[in-house]
Amino acid sequence: MLILLSDAFDASLPGKLKKFADVTDDKSKVAEAEVVLIRSKTKVTKEYIDGAPKLKLVIRGGVGLDNVDQAYAKSKGIKVFNTAAASSVAVAELAFAMMIAMPNQIVTGHNSMKEGKWLKKELKRTELYQKTLGVLGIGRIGTEIAKRGKAFDMKVVAYDPFVKKHDIAEMKSSVADVLKVSDYISLNMPLTDDTKGMLNKNTLKDLKDGAYIINTGRGKCIIEEDIVELLKSGKLKGYATDVWYSDPPENSPLIDAPNVLLLPHIGASTTENLLRIGEIVEDMIGKYVKNEL
Ligand code: NAD
Repeated sequence: MLILLSDAFDASLPGKLKKFADVTDDKSKVAEAEVVLIRSKTKVTKEYIDGAPKLKLVIRGGVGLDNVDQAYAKSKGIKVFNTAAASSVAVAELAFAMMIAMPNQIVTGHNSMKEGKWLKKELKRTELYQKTLGVLGIGRIGTEIAKRGKAFDMKVVAYDPFVKKHDIAEMKSSVADVLKVSDYISLNMPLTDDTKGMLNKNTLKDLKDGAYIINTGRGKCIIEEDIVELLKSGKLKGYATDVWYSDPPENSPLIDAPNVLLLPHIGASTTENLLRIGEIVEDMIGKYVKNEL
């Protein structure tokens, strides 16, 4: 049996998997692989699956499975798993880091110091204290963000079509109801037919003036051009994103837009999370070789 590590995992993982099978990170060996381990970079499309006749198991180290053609995999008898719970804290901490950085002028202040400027009077800050945090998609990551919002004495509201009641957040019955009252909006829903382009110039008419949006969910849940227009008009005070239409972005208007905070999809990339993912993958493959997965 051959296990192909097709994306970046913790450096200790190949050593841990050797007790189960041969392990390679040579992507040209995909046709021989029975197990393929991916993160977000490898796209397990119909063509990819057709080029991997021995493939029986795909494990996505992380959450979103939008880079796997799950229906086609199923039709070929290939099992697909993710490590859903591992990344929640890592992503929530990054979302919160961006949420703190924007109103505190962290990036602008730092860059201005490097440029030899002293913007003590110019850089105005605002507080998170007693502001409203709106969470769109209150699953594992959304809940971790909500907890952190509470710790900062924020009011937390949320919209999620599959969650009617939540311990921390006051549930609203629509996206619009969240946008109307929120000073900070965190996007934490998966990319689906319903969430694709969910925040666009029509839905964002309900946005509270001067709100911030933080996107650690998926880039395609927003329309980039519409976000840029709102940033230019000032209605949207800031847009922080870790996620893009494609990794890396190609010709994204966000790159040159004002009041953005841009990161290269590092939400899951903490040392601790890569170790957690590695442990879960090792456990899953252990079960797989015993026919228990
Ligand atoms: P989850 O399944 O626990 O939570 C997602 C929530 O979104 C669910 O409660 C679901 O009901 C809700 N939802 C579904 N459709 C919705 C809609 N139309 N409107 C509002 N909410 C909706 O998943 P999670 O572990 O919290 O991860 C959420 C997403 O975060 C993933 O799907 C992935 O796209 C993204 N993610 C990003 C990174 C990163 O590196 N930035 C890392 C991990 C996950």
